[in-house]
Amino acid sequence: ATPTSIMVGTGRAAQMGVLFRQGTALQGLQDVQVVALDKTGTLTEGKPLLTDFIAAEGADAQRALQLLASLEHQSSHPVAQALVSAAHQKNLELLPVTEFESLTGLGVRGTVDGLRIEVGADRFMTQLAIQVDSFAAQAQQLAQLGKTPMYLAINGKLSALLAIADPIKASTPAAINALHELGLKIVMVTGDNRHTAQAIAEQLGIDEVVAEVMPAQKVETVQQLQQRHGKLAFVGDGINDAPALVTADVGIAIGTGSDITIDAADVVLISGKLTGVVNALQISRSTLRNIK
Ligand code: ADP
Ligand code: MG
Repeated sequence: ATPTSIMVGTGRAAQMGVLFRQGTALQGLQDVQVVALDKTGTLTEGKPLLTDFIAAEGADAQRALQLLASLEHQSSHPVAQALVSAAHQKNLELLPVTEFESLTGLGVRGTVDGLRIEVGADRFMTQLAIQVDSFAAQAQQLAQLGKTPMYLAINGKLSALLAIADPIKASTPAAINALHELGLKIVMVTGDNRHTAQAIAEQLGIDEVVAEVMPAQKVETVQQLQQRHGKLAFVGDGINDAPALVTADVGIAIGTGSDITIDAADVVLISGKLTGVVNALQISRSTLRNIK
C-alpha cells in the first residue's frame, strides 16, 4: 500500500469516528477472519440493573440488600453500581465496611456490621465451599433469560440469589449481521456466567462463546482462537481487555475506554458502537482494493 492511500483511508475513517492509531492496522484488518468481542460494555450498554432479588428462607430481604449494597459501594465494577443504586432507590442506608477485598472475576468480600459478607458468581461460592444447590433451578432460569445470577452469603450462609441484566446496545444486532455479511466469524469472550453468555449469543446470532474467562486467561483465549480460526481482531472496552488487545492481530478499543485500553489498541472507535468495526473493515478493504 502506498503511504498516500493509507493516509486517505485513515482520514476517511477518522471522519466516521474510527481512529487508526497505527497505519499498519488498515492492512492488518484486511486479513482478519475472526472478530472476538468482550460482552460487557461492547455488546451491551455496560450499565446493568438489578432485576431479581430472592432471599433465602428465613432471611430478611431488606437487610440482605443493605449489607450487600454497603459492600458493593467499595467496588467499581459495573455490577456494583447496579446494586448500590437499587439500595438507594429503597432508601436503604449504606453501612461502613472493613476488610474489603475485590476478587477479580469472582466477586467481593468484607465485613459489614460485624458480619462477614461475600457476593459473587457461583464459582466464588464454590471456592468458599458454600452450596448453591437450593437456588440452582432458579439461577438456571434467570441465566437463560440472559441475566447474570449472583449469590450473597452472610457469615458463610447462603442468604440470597440475585440477578442483574445489562441491556444489549441498540446498534449491536445490525453490526453483528453486517460482520457476518463481510464473511467474519464472531466469538464472544466474557467473564460472565456461561448460560447467560450463551443466551445472549443466541439472541444475537454469535457463532461461538468462551465464557467464565478469568481476566488473566483472556490472552490465552485469544491465542487459542488465533490457532483455530486465523487472524483475529479483538474488540473490548475495559482495563482488563488491554492484554487481549495487544495479543490480537488487530486490537480495537470501543467507546470511552480508559487510557490503558486506548494505549493497547491499534484502532479506537469513538462512537462506542460496534458499527465502527464494520466501518473500519470496509474502509480497510476499499483502501487496499484501490491500491491493487
Ligand atoms: P466481564 O467484564 O466479562 O463482565 P468480570 O471478570 O469483570 O467479567 O466479572 C465476572 C463475574 O464476576 C461477574 O459476572 C460477576 O458474577 C462476578 N463479579 C465481579 N465483580 C463483582 C462484584 N463487584 N460484585 C459481585 N460479583 C462480581
Ligand atoms: Mg468488560
